[in-house]
Amino acid sequence: MQKLLSERKKRISEFQKIARKREYKYEPTNIPNHVFVQCENCLSALYNKDLEQSHYVCPYCNHHFRINATTRINLTVDEGSFVELFGNVVAKNVLNIKDYDEKLKVANNVSNLNEAILTGRAKIGEIDVAIGVLDSNFMMGSMGSAVGEKITLLIEYAEENKLPLIIFVASGGARMQEGIFSLMQMAKTSGALNHLNKLFISVMTNPTTGGVAASFASLGDINIAEKTSLIGFAGPRVIKQTIKQDLPAGFQTENFQMEKGQIDLIVERKNMKDVLTKLLKLHEVNQDE
Ligand SMILES: [Zn+2]
Repeated sequence: MQKLLSERKKRISEFQKIARKREYKYEPTNIPNHVFVQCENCLSALYNKDLEQSHYVCPYCNHHFRINATTRINLTVDEGSFVELFGNVVAKNVLNIKDYDEKLKVANNVSNLNEAILTGRAKIGEIDVAIGVLDSNFMMGSMGSAVGEKITLLIEYAEENKLPLIIFVASGGARMQEGIFSLMQMAKTSGALNHLNKLFISVMTNPTTGGVAASFASLGDINIAEKTSLIGFAGPRVIKQTIKQDLPAGFQTENFQMEKGQIDLIVERKNMKDVLTKLLKLHEVNQDE
C-alpha cells in the first residue's frame, strides 16, 4: 500500500513538472460588443441571437428580461395589425422642474418613444383589442400626465369601440418630476376604468410598482403577472425600515402575489399570446352589440 502511494506521489510530481513546462499561448479574441449578454439572475453568458430567439428569456434559469414596448407588441399581436393611437400626447414640464426637459430628451433617444407608453389598437388571435404597453426604457415607465392621459383615452376608446382592453405594465410608479399632477393620474385612470364595461386584462411585468401598481395595474378584471416579475408598492428596503420587521422570503415576487390573491395567473412569455387569445375568446364580446 505504502509502495503504491509513493509511486503515485512520484507520478503526480512528474506530471506537474511536465505540465508546468508546457507553455500556453492564448491569442486574445476580439468579441464585438453586444454579441453576448449576461443574465441578470444566474450570470450565465448568453448569445444575443439565442436570447432574441427565446423572446429574451434566459434558457438556463428562465429569467424574463425586460423588453421594450415595440418588441412586446411584436411578440403579442397578430403581425402587422398594430395601429398607434394618441401618439401625439407628450409630457410638458408644467412645474418647471430643473433637468426634466433634458431627461425627457434622453428618454426619447434611449427608447425611441415620445412617452413611456405606446397605445393603439391591434388584433390578438384575430380578435380586435385596444392595447397599451408601458416601456421601462422611458424614465422607468413612470406615469406622468401624458401617460395617464393616454391610458384614459385608450380606456375611453375601448368603451366607445366596444373593444376588450389589454395593458402591459412595466413601471416604477408615478413620475416625480410632475408632482401632484402625476399622482392625480392614479385617480383619473381608476375613474375611467370604473366606467369601462368591457373586459380589461392587466398584465404586470417586471417591474410593476408604486402609483401604477396602486392604480389601474391592479384593477384588471383579470390580473396576470408575467413570470419572474417584481410586483409591489414600495421597495422591500423601505418597507423593512418602516415596519421594522423582516420580510418573508420571496416577498413581491409573482408567486408571492399569486399566493396572496393579488393576481390571478402567472404566465410565461412564450405562452402569453396563447393565454390572451384563450381569455379573449372566452369573454368574446359581440362587437355589433
Ligand atoms: Zn439566467
